[in-house]
Amino acid sequence: MIEVSHLSRTYGGLHAVDDVTFTARPGRVTGFLGPNGAGKSTTMRVMVGLTPASSGSATVLGRHYADLPNPGREVGVLLDASAQHAGRTGRETLRIAALTMGLPTARTDEMIDLVGLTPTEASRRVKNYSLGMRQRLGIATALIGDPEVLILDEPANGLDPAGIRWMRDLLRGFADQGGTVLLSSHLLHEIEVIADDLVVIGQGRIVAQGTKAELLAAAGTLVRSTATTELSQALTASGVTVSRSGPDLLRVDAEPDLVGKVALAAGVALTELRAADGAGLEEMFLDLTADTAREGVAA
Ligand code: ADP
Repeated sequence: MIEVSHLSRTYGGLHAVDDVTFTARPGRVTGFLGPNGAGKSTTMRVMVGLTPASSGSATVLGRHYADLPNPGREVGVLLDASAQHAGRTGRETLRIAALTMGLPTARTDEMIDLVGLTPTEASRRVKNYSLGMRQRLGIATALIGDPEVLILDEPANGLDPAGIRWMRDLLRGFADQGGTVLLSSHLLHEIEVIADDLVVIGQGRIVAQGTKAELLAAAGTLVRSTATTELSQALTASGVTVSRSGPDLLRVDAEPDLVGKVALAAGVALTELRAADGAGLEEMFLDLTADTAREGVAA
């Protein structure tokens, strides 16, 4: 369990993380989604004690990370795969992690196997690793202490499609055994296939959170008509929010049933009416983050 409560972190005048509250639960994969610069890494750095909070708190298994007696045995962390010691081999990196955590060094070879590095690759220096190999090594380091919680910042960066699939299965298995997984990404599709719960962040603030199913349902209804102006007026008059998704297409924050009834009452013919979840989380992600992302670029 990870609990983040009213967490804020400012850098000078910049609100990198602004009053963020969410929980990542055991047995579930929680996706932490947002455009670059949204505040994901800062939140995760506060969680593992690398950056102090300006206010609010983040606890892992009910404690601040710094108060965990042997943190590597409780929380597996991968924040920046390219920050691993370049002069060490993969095997040395894992052996040092095992020694630090008081684990038998046999765990080293188990982890090398688990993450699919060959013995030859494990004997090479990290400076010669691709980003994907560094991610695998980082995941091995995170898992070596057999923790209950995983905190992974953009773990899919640099992995090829087969690697992403492998990671997805690994994290699914970890959560299915009762583990808590928090992983961040700026790519919706990466998160969409793996996460049970989603926390969406833009410019330091949470813009949506809930189960993936809830967030999909919240995408509303897509309705197509050649008379979108009349339809939009009738829907707005009935108290629902309408936005334009294309030349003849509206997105409505209401069930298809209601939209159909309003159209009938207004005498507007429809050419298409369907729940917007077919459009996936994508529309929601773009809707929710487009403005904040744009402002971020302009700032
Ligand atoms: P994300 O992980 O979502 O890409 P970050 O948490 O890295 O976002 O960054 C959030 C914001 O905080 C960005 O505007 C970034 O430039 C800023 N930021 C992050 N770390 C620092 C720092 N050490 N000093 C100043 N600004 C920072």
